[in-house]
Amino acid sequence: MQKLILLLVFIINADLSFSQHPDKYILLKPDRVFDGETMQAGWVVLIKNKKIEQAGSMMFKLPAGTEIIELKGMTLLPGLIEGHSHLLLHPYNETSWNEQVLKESRAERTVRAVNHAKATLMAGFTTVRDLGTEGAMYDDVGLKESIEKGLTAGPRMIIATRAIVATGSYGPKLSVDNESIKGAAEADGEDALIKEIRTQIGNGADLIKIYADYRWGLNKDAQPTFTLDELKKAAEVIQSSGRKLVVHAVTAEAMKRATLAGTSTIEHGDKGTEEVFKLMKEKGVALCPTLSAGESILQYDGWKKGIDTAPQRVIDKKKSFQLALKSGVTICMGSDVGVFTHGDNAREMELMIEYGMKPVEVLRSSTSINADVFGYGNKIGRIKKDLFADLIAVDGDPSTDIKNIRKIKLVMKDGVVYKKE
Ligand SMILES: [Zn+2]
Repeated sequence: MQKLILLLVFIINADLSFSQHPDKYILLKPDRVFDGETMQAGWVVLIKNKKIEQAGSMMFKLPAGTEIIELKGMTLLPGLIEGHSHLLLHPYNETSWNEQVLKESRAERTVRAVNHAKATLMAGFTTVRDLGTEGAMYDDVGLKESIEKGLTAGPRMIIATRAIVATGSYGPKLSVDNESIKGAAEADGEDALIKEIRTQIGNGADLIKIYADYRWGLNKDAQPTFTLDELKKAAEVIQSSGRKLVVHAVTAEAMKRATLAGTSTIEHGDKGTEEVFKLMKEKGVALCPTLSAGESILQYDGWKKGIDTAPQRVIDKKKSFQLALKSGVTICMGSDVGVFTHGDNAREMELMIEYGMKPVEVLRSSTSINADVFGYGNKIGRIKKDLFADLIAVDGDPSTDIKNIRKIKLVMKDGVVYKKE
């Protein structure tokens, strides 16, 4: 009995100390606020613990003890969302993809990923959609959990785990006599696909990424892998779990199959035609163009941008991207970072403008549009009451000059300040 009373006293005390824990308020006073959709003048933003409590003109009473952060000359924005990252890869001009997958230990790859996650957050990207561990199995699950537990600083992670490829299509490839580990999980036919999808879901995948084509054509050109029926079945199984299908596709045919199957986004989409983009628009499929990945690889191969004439691949990519814009396809911001340096994600935003978008459209793609397309619009991507306090402040106005997006002065995630200059 005495023990029980003691236990009760302990519980009541614990409960009291919890309820007495004071709410933490922070008021942010920038020059202007990009709310995820438009630029607002005369706004302030009040944070209560992890969430946004107020956003607008100062018409509310400030709670006692509010910490005030003046952000003179700065723009406050929702934390940026990287739509296509690989935290478990590092730039291919340091170590080729094959060598990373075949020769680097999983421990080394994880240590690198921890550093990549920090660099990403400090660059103002408070969320990443991480699209495949490339041979590092389920290590994105542990990284995501470690960040959530506060063991290391990093962005929110929306993860794909291993991704799925058709047998024979993906690398690394050694000799016919020497099977190597693969950069993604191989599965073919409806039964095997269902099994692999459910395995990845069970192990922590927030979405499923499928490669609908790959460079396995007769001349190592990109050709479709999965049939339309395989993709449709995969989409059905993925969607019934409340998750989204994400498809890698470069060829018009694979893009078409992915769109008809019900993908949420198409990654890369280099060879998209007017017909395909029209279909994507009709079906509400977004394009994640990964402009910087293509340019980075060409530069690793010797192209000197600004000195040499643009390679045909750049000219073609620009054309197809502009065709997508003209067709009214929703454009995500996703760079394929990992191919190039983590923390340099803003390179994609700069290229989106160079290829034909307006700065404010790029800011939308990098915040509210990515959040909505990925299914996280009720949590992140806007400066709005009750959303998570993932916020950044930059010097100047990035809607007039996108270079300002690199001048990060404040990074807040979940109401916690990670950087303040
Ligand atoms: Zn990728």
